[in-house]
Amino acid sequence: MQSKAVVFRGENLTVHVEDILVDPPGPGEVMIKMAACGVCHSDLSVTNGTLPLPPPIILGHEGAGVIAQVGPGVADFQVGDHVISSFVNTCGKCRYCVTGRANLCSVAIGTPGTLLGGHLRTRDASGQPLNVMAGCGVMAEYATLHENSVVKIEPVAPLDRCALIGCGVMTGWGAVCNTAKVEAGSICVVFGAGGVGLSAIQGCVAAGATMIVAVDMLANKLEMARTFGATHVVDASKSANLVKDLRKLTDGGADYAFECVGHGDIVAQAYATVRKGGTAIVVGVARPDNTTTIRTASLAFEEKTLKGSYYGSTRPRHDFPRLVSLYQAGKLKLDELITQRYSIDQAPQAFDDLAQGRNARGVIIF
Ligand SMILES: [Zn+2]
Ligand SMILES: [Zn+2]
Repeated sequence: MQSKAVVFRGENLTVHVEDILVDPPGPGEVMIKMAACGVCHSDLSVTNGTLPLPPPIILGHEGAGVIAQVGPGVADFQVGDHVISSFVNTCGKCRYCVTGRANLCSVAIGTPGTLLGGHLRTRDASGQPLNVMAGCGVMAEYATLHENSVVKIEPVAPLDRCALIGCGVMTGWGAVCNTAKVEAGSICVVFGAGGVGLSAIQGCVAAGATMIVAVDMLANKLEMARTFGATHVVDASKSANLVKDLRKLTDGGADYAFECVGHGDIVAQAYATVRKGGTAIVVGVARPDNTTTIRTASLAFEEKTLKGSYYGSTRPRHDFPRLVSLYQAGKLKLDELITQRYSIDQAPQAFDDLAQGRNARGVIIF
């Protein structure tokens, strides 16, 4: 199948829109006619080396579309099904999958640039194989994925909005509701008000947090944070001692702090912001060589917890349909998250806008 795709070829911060060939699905695979794909910070992270994935690679891991072809042996999908891509291709057999922690599947970690099983169904115009980001590569008009990387949803919600569930919304909302399991009445602080941070704020609202503090350095993002449910906003660029200010605002410290940026310095701030017995959750993805420093004694004396959250601790086939139904019930904002729509030819502009912090979420519409 002829398709346009957004490809990273190893040049710093540069993406290309190319005509590619997508092969039909093999055993256990499906071909999706993509409807939309969010442009996520992790896509940008591939282009600047923060996420070192092997080029040439088709970007995109936050997509939704309609099944166009079904490979041999696929029983759970039919042509016409509405689906969201999942960027962990769960094997269903490893110790993580069988203990309900599919987001940590050890097979998925071992195949970051191919489909499950190591296959590729994508070639460039000269016939050279193209890798696919996180088993997806869904920033393309067509994509062939392993069926374990695809989640069927009811065809009740617009696919451009459902695409966001595939990464940013699941990651942020899930960090609060799945990983932290925030209790009603909690005081929460969210560092970073991009697509993931805004979704974490929505998770805090869903969990019944009574005080939700958004921290960012951009006024437009703090404004967005209020519309997504933040009760207070703090401009970190205007605070001489951010931790002190946040501990004062939260009357001695937050119950939960969510780091949605991906930097060790902010992880340390998030940890210092929580009160005794509190929990700091690291959601953002830092560069491989980035480290953090915390006061070791505080772990014992203050019974604090520093915890990571990957992909919102999702069990995709449970959580994605759940988020679609929350959207339908008016309890999850997705429309407001999309601040710009792009054609695939405008992908370079979409990446530039992301790098400049201009969007909550930009979405490529196919
Ligand atoms: Zn993402
Ligand atoms: Zn597994």
